[in-house]
Amino acid sequence: MTANLVAALVAGLAGVAFGALAAYIGEAALARRRVKVACPYCTAPYSPVQWSALVAVATGQGRCAACNRFLRVPRLIGELFLALAWGLLVGFYGLTPRTLLALVAFFPQAIILVTDLEAKLIPNRVMLPSLLAMVVIGTLVGPAVPAVNAWRWWTTLVGAAIGFTTFRLLVWLGVALFGEGALGEGDITLAAYVGAVVGFPLIIESLLLAFTFGGIGAAAVLLLRRGKLGTAIPYGPFIILGCATTMLFGAELLLWLAN
Ligand SMILES: [Zn+2]
Repeated sequence: MTANLVAALVAGLAGVAFGALAAYIGEAALARRRVKVACPYCTAPYSPVQWSALVAVATGQGRCAACNRFLRVPRLIGELFLALAWGLLVGFYGLTPRTLLALVAFFPQAIILVTDLEAKLIPNRVMLPSLLAMVVIGTLVGPAVPAVNAWRWWTTLVGAAIGFTTFRLLVWLGVALFGEGALGEGDITLAAYVGAVVGFPLIIESLLLAFTFGGIGAAAVLLLRRGKLGTAIPYGPFIILGCATTMLFGAELLLWLAN
């Protein structure tokens, strides 16, 4: 137990460092070029402590030294996500080949959390290579879910196809019903990626969780804004939350529900 706790802490700290990298990649993908780690408002360079949003906030340096504005919160959320996901993953399942695959699979999700929360964008230049890599790896070695130990060669392909088709239909439906829908093309690619990560049948659980979290999120926004939803919230974070929950606790959740 102590060994697990130490391993979880180390993985969580690594998650902070790689989360900072993910946030950097996300901002560079949004800017479509290499960017400096600098204040997004006044472009004053950040100090090394501020390269990680979590470290900056934890040491009381969350504000820009030049213009005093607070760092972008999506960076903080991306780092927090990866730190928690990696820490929980290693804490619960130890280090196995399949946990390593899951660690890798979490990384693009941290990037997308940053870009979608910041600009409501899920860049293809991040998502398409990630999707392709996960389809190939998943077909060869199975889903990036530590609790899964039985799988067929088509598990990953069918998972990706179900994620893709479900969101393709939802985007069509959204456009037909509301004109410009809350869902975008990027959500389709992200859902296909989730399908490749968790495979079939866990993609179904992933999507159901995403819709549940999305429903709770929409209800919260409706309450806070007194009935105006519009296209206020990006959907990507809910898809990612559904995926991460499935990767970490999916099998246990199914067993618990079945009993
Ligand atoms: Zn500044």
